Amino acid sequence: MLSRKPASSMASHQHCDTYAWFSQRAWVEIDLEALSYNVQQLRQFLAPHTQLMAVVKADAYGHGAVTVAQTALQGGASWLGVATVPEGIQLREAGIEAPILILGATHTVEQIQAIAQWQLQPTIGSPKQALIFSNTLETMQHDSPIPVHIKLDTGMSRLGTNWQQAGEFVQLVDRLPHLDIASVYSHLATADSPDTSIMAEQHRRFKEAIAQIKALGIKIPSLHLANSAATLADKRLHYDMVRVGLAVYGLYPAPHLQKTISLKPVIQVQARVTHVKTIAAGTGVSYGHQFIAPREMRLAVVGIGYADGVPRNLSNQMQVLLRGQRVPQIGAITMDQLMIDVSAVPDVQEGEIVTLLGEQGQERITADDWAEKLNTISWEILCGFKHRLPRVGVM
Ligand SMILES: *Cc1c(COP(=O)(O)O)cnc(C)c1O
Repeated sequence: MLSRKPASSMASHQHCDTYAWFSQRAWVEIDLEALSYNVQQLRQFLAPHTQLMAVVKADAYGHGAVTVAQTALQGGASWLGVATVPEGIQLREAGIEAPILILGATHTVEQIQAIAQWQLQPTIGSPKQALIFSNTLETMQHDSPIPVHIKLDTGMSRLGTNWQQAGEFVQLVDRLPHLDIASVYSHLATADSPDTSIMAEQHRRFKEAIAQIKALGIKIPSLHLANSAATLADKRLHYDMVRVGLAVYGLYPAPHLQKTISLKPVIQVQARVTHVKTIAAGTGVSYGHQFIAPREMRLAVVGIGYADGVPRNLSNQMQVLLRGQRVPQIGAITMDQLMIDVSAVPDVQEGEIVTLLGEQGQERITADDWAEKLNTISWEILCGFKHRLPRVGVM
């Protein structure tokens, strides 16, 4: 496990273990205490009967699916949501026994076999898909029915059957052998908007669909509709379960939802200074010389780049934290390295820790800061850290 304050000790680089700091040129720290805190805040915000699903797709938004799933379950989540079959299998192989809903589409014989074998729970979004499942399970001579989750499209225009056909769709699945309806759900397209009119219309359609199903005398064990934004925005959308991703990771889906519950960012992205040098006025920095030193400068190379999840479009636009100060990044961000201007920080040493996302002293940089600069959303920034960097859990 990495110490969180090695900057000063590493500064005495004569004694430093070269292997240790080269093997840790950059890493992601996952603050498990913050994660538990967020889950507990969410749990307290929900009615006791409302289940909390922690959405851990895309390797838990870049945070590491197994660790996040285990911590979230300990903190009060009772369901897990993934996008794909392999994501579900990964959790089962780690010994996780909680119910796992696959939010994405599954169709093939291989997928259906894996779902049955690993006790994953599929989303069924169309009559055709329901028939494929039923026929495949029949051919497999699968003995007990598998729990499935009916997806209705109420306005997202993604997976699901149109809400107006909810009655006939649910009735068809209900009559099929091998399939047990465990829930009916839908997904909201605009829950993070301060204008709630489209969300209200989707909610109205969801209620209309439920009424159709009820009128046919079919009992549904669970209904769910809310993502993070809807969970924070309106308790009437909670139903029997909420499917929360972003908020588990400590970020707010939108600024106007910040007053709801308290959340702490879970991810910190750290890298080490790998080289320090002085450059003369007029010296170009990095590919394309997009930065030219306006005066003599102290430059530090940091061992992290766009292949690690630092978007190249932040070149010359971002700051990092070094010794509790904000320091500008200069020149094009390269695949594995980037440069920073450390002229204002005295005597910077190789091995010192630079924080790209996270806190140092009074300063904090979040995925929201990057997302704003890049005209994207924090979700995409977080998912960028799922590839190369080692992850370290810290308490
Ligand atoms: C990803 C996803 C969620 C979680 O969304 P957040 O905005 O991160 O809370 C919930 N439901 C479905 C169907 C999803 O695909």
